[in-house]
Amino acid sequence: MIPSTPKTPGTDRIVVVGAALLDGGRLLAARRSAPADLAGRWELPGGKVEPGERPEDALVRELREELGVDAEPVERVPGQWPLRTPYVLQVWTARLRPGSPAPQPLEDHDELRWLTPDRIWEVDWLDQDVPAVREVADAIASG
Ligand code: C5P
Repeated sequence: MIPSTPKTPGTDRIVVVGAALLDGGRLLAARRSAPADLAGRWELPGGKVEPGERPEDALVRELREELGVDAEPVERVPGQWPLRTPYVLQVWTARLRPGSPAPQPLEDHDELRWLTPDRIWEVDWLDQDVPAVREVADAIASG
């Protein structure tokens, strides 16, 4: 029998990228329409990084697919947050490129909202997105 290769813990994580899309000091929140257990909760739009894909490229792709926008990543929000195994959430701030269409809820979402800093906590964020949203809110507040 061929001995099995020992598994190194942590090598089988799949990164989910979330975008803190910022425009004029406002943060875009997206309300999920599916699956049922997440529907109605608000998130940073994004999704799974595909094999061999750079997270920043996944972010741009997901924002194009989900919102129809032409966006660019700006900087990584420090930290990463566990989702259900094997997923971990990493977040980048992002902005619309000049001439980008305005975001539309094309898939996964049924409402979008640009939140000014004083309104960031008025929506019911997914629990797992809260630490990242807090980091971004602090960054916006400190200019
Ligand atoms: O959007 P997609 O289905 O590709 O997302 C993959 C997983 O990551 C889902 O389970 C989703 O709930 C989760 N997710 C999250 N927070 C986000 C984006 C996605 O928890 N901001």
